[in-house]
Parts: sequence; C-alpha cells; structure tokens
Amino acid sequence: MSEPSTTSPPPPTTKSWADQADEETNQTSTSAADETSSLNVNELTIDEENKSLSKSLDDPDDSNITAVTAGDTPYTSATTFEELSLSPELLKGLYVEMKFEKPSKIQAKSLPMILNPPHRDLIAQAHNGSGKTTCFNLGMLSRVDPNLQAPQALCICPTRELAIQNIEVLRKMGKYTGISSECAVPMDRRDSIPVMKRAPIMAQVVIGTPGTMKNLITYKKLGVTKLKILVFDEADQMLAEDGFRDDSLRIIKEIEKFNSSCQVLLFSATFNETVKNFATRVVGKKEHNELFVKKEELSLDAVKQYKVLVPDELVKIDVIKNYIFELGENVGQTIIFVRTRNSAKMLHKALVDLGYEVTSIQGALDHVDRDKIVKEFKDGLTQVLISTDVLARGFDQQQVNLVINYDLPLKYAAEYTHGHEQEPDYEVYLHRVGRAGRFGRKGAVFNLICGERDEKTLSKIEKHFGTYIKEVKDRSVEDYKVALKEAGLLF
Ligand code: AMP
Repeated sequence: MSEPSTTSPPPPTTKSWADQADEETNQTSTSAADETSSLNVNELTIDEENKSLSKSLDDPDDSNITAVTAGDTPYTSATTFEELSLSPELLKGLYVEMKFEKPSKIQAKSLPMILNPPHRDLIAQAHNGSGKTTCFNLGMLSRVDPNLQAPQALCICPTRELAIQNIEVLRKMGKYTGISSECAVPMDRRDSIPVMKRAPIMAQVVIGTPGTMKNLITYKKLGVTKLKILVFDEADQMLAEDGFRDDSLRIIKEIEKFNSSCQVLLFSATFNETVKNFATRVVGKKEHNELFVKKEELSLDAVKQYKVLVPDELVKIDVIKNYIFELGENVGQTIIFVRTRNSAKMLHKALVDLGYEVTSIQGALDHVDRDKIVKEFKDGLTQVLISTDVLARGFDQQQVNLVINYDLPLKYAAEYTHGHEQEPDYEVYLHRVGRAGRFGRKGAVFNLICGERDEKTLSKIEKHFGTYIKEVKDRSVEDYKVALKEAGLLF
C-alpha cells in the first residue's frame, strides 16, 4: 500500500490537527502559560448504570500483532488476569468494577511485557477499541508502591477529554487499591491557580495533557525522581512534528535528568513510518519491546464503511436527516465529524432548526461546556454529537454505532495546500472510524462525498488501507437499509 505522498505540501507552521490542539497551544503560547490547576474529575463521573456490558462481545481480532522483543526475556501471553500476578485489589477492580472476564488480545500480549522485570520500554500499536487503556492503566496501577505518597506514574494524552476519560477508567479499575490520582489538564482561566502558587502534587498517578504536565514539571510542582512509568497515549500524535513533539521531548528529557530507570510506554492505534522511526529513537537508547499491526489490518471488519456521493453541501444535511437518522433512529448513538469549528456551528444550527436535539463540541468552547457536552453524551442523554477532531481519538463510548464523516479529514488546511492536491489524514480517518464498533461491537461509517476532490481523497484512503468503500445512493432508502443491515444495525 502506498504511504502518504512525499510530494505533499510542506507542513503548516500551525498544528495540522484542525481543532483539538488548541487548549494546549493556548496554554503554552499565552501569558497564561504559568497558570495551571488540576481538575475535580469526580464531578464529571459518568453514570455507568446505563452502560451494560454485553456478554456476547467478540474480542476484536488483534491476532496479527507482530511482537519484536529485546534480549532473551521470554514473554508468554496471558489467558487470564490471574496469570499476571496482579494484586487481589486490582483483580477485584477488573472483575467487579470493570466487569471484564479475561484479557483482550492486546492485553494478553502487552501486559506480560509491561509488568515483568526488567520492565522494558514498549511501543505498542493496538486496534481502536481493543482495550489499550487497560494495558497502560493496569501497568501504572501495578507498578505504583501504595506506601509511597509521591508521583510514580504519569500518563500524557493529547486532549483533556482523553485525559479525563483515562483517569475515570483508572479510578474505577483501581477502586480497591487506595492508589491516589490527579488529573492535570488546562482549566478555564477563572478556575485556574497560577502554577507557582499551587501545592506540589502528591498523587501517585497523574494523568494530563502535555502543556500542563510540562509546566508542572518545569515549576517543580510535579517531582519526577520517584517515577517508575511514563505513558504516552495516542503516542503517534504526541511525537509527531505537527503534534506535541516539543512538549513530549521536554518532559522525557526532564525526567531523564533525574531518573534513568523510568519505563516508557508508547501506545496508539496508528503509527505512520516517520513517527514509528522517531518513536523507536525516543526509546531506542535502552532495549525495548514492540508490538505492531499491519496497516491493512487496521480497519476493523466490525465497522462497515460506506460513501454517499452528494451534488452539493446542502444535500449532506438532507441525507443525514431523511435517510441516516430516519433509518438509523434506534441503532444507538451517532457522532458526526466535521473538519472545522465553523462547519460544527453551521451543522448544529441546521439540525436544531430542523427539530433535532444535537450537541456539538469543538475546541473554542470553554472547558466547562466541553465537559458538560461529553458527560451528557456519555450518560446517553444526547443521541447525536457533532464534533471536530477533538474527539477523533480515543473517545470511548460503547453505544456509538454510527459515525458520519460530514467532511473527510485532511492533513493540511486548504490555505496551506498552495494548489496541491489535498492529502487525506489517514490516521485521523482511522481514529474516526474507530469511534464506532468499540471492543468488537457493530458499527457503520457514512462518508459524505461532495465533488471530485472529495472523491479523490476517499479513493486515496481506500488505497492506503487496502479497503473498498461501497457506495450508497444518496436518495435510495433501500440502499441505506441494506447498508445498515450489512453493518448488523438493522434486522
Ligand atoms: P479501549 O480500547 O481501551 O478504549 O477499550 C475499548 C472498550 O473495551 C472499553 O469500553 C473497555 O471497557 C472495553 N474493554 C477493554 N478491555 C476489556 C476486556 N478485557 N473485557 C471486556 N471489555 C474490555
């Protein structure tokens, strides 16, 4: 399969992540750089009652994971959680709170590498929704000494939504361990305490976003001498030049100054070749382990992908309303991805004007509103969420069965292409698809394609992943029905 073309336009000076990077850039590029605070995540706790875990889930097939292990340490996959020598408190958390029965494939493979001495660094790729959060959360919870009240595990995530989600899972899983945790993400200015004035962090696990974490470490509010494990979630984005590479490297350097034995885990569903090479160099000084999946095997079979060719933008709204919503009404929750904040606003207004209850999230909203919108969606109070790529990665909501790509994800904003062909953002596409079909559930993705440029972009995506995206005729009720049936969402 072809890699993204090397003739693509030069990377923009601003981050190519259309939207989600904004809270970090705000954090570091304004005079608020020295303001930080940690979040009371308990106030955001999700109502788990309506999240029933189906017993008939298929573990997503990660069987083609290639393992490259260093040295002569033999690692055997774990078929049960007991085999991992976890504490009784953690086992109770997994069974009683998480309601997990056995490790998923990526957990079975990666956990022995993470938990067993010599605690080598790990670069791990796992399918979207296949259980990677548990890999690193269990890694952090297992490696912390509960009797030492100091930061021992850090996890850095690209967005505050992901940091909040990860800490919620960690707290649930670690409920019986007594291990303390803190969420370090940007706060709205009115709620934030200048970093100089805040107390040092005592929590044993800290999960947060790169700008905030970097400030805390720089101002010596987050001590790194006792750190045993450092995790980068969505590691490709954290190490990409147009992502958070500078902050991530600063954090790694700062930790290395005081602590040479900290285990580094890099987890993501996507690693393009450039980032993969760079990641290998980041952990390359020490012997490390790797787990990789071929990119052709990354598009989950559980999620069916379709394209709808529309003559103009207005028809996109008609397709969403009269066909996808009409037929997919009872199939579960839907996320509609848009490229820009303006599209988010426009589509939100159009759908509300038509009488739909939708919410929309984009980086320009203040944090309180973003948290509220995510919580309402996770609690099942809203069925349809319009989102920029702020939620493209990692967002885990098992009830999401439908993803609509109102716009296709592109690498560079139009103003940076200088007349060149638009280059799809393959990684973001895959992450968007991965919001449906969590942990082997059923799902469908509808790509709304308007004009020749969109068609070219989608065919590049098909070629890249070696997949064929079937067409659904824009006004054919029968076609939509067949598509939803094929995806296992209509009977
Ligand atoms: P993740 O890829 O970590 O976001 O996980 C995707 C979904 O799979 C989450 O909703 C998890 O709760 C669920 N999950 C993860 N590991 C397991 C497991 N071993 N058994 C059942 N469900 C799991």
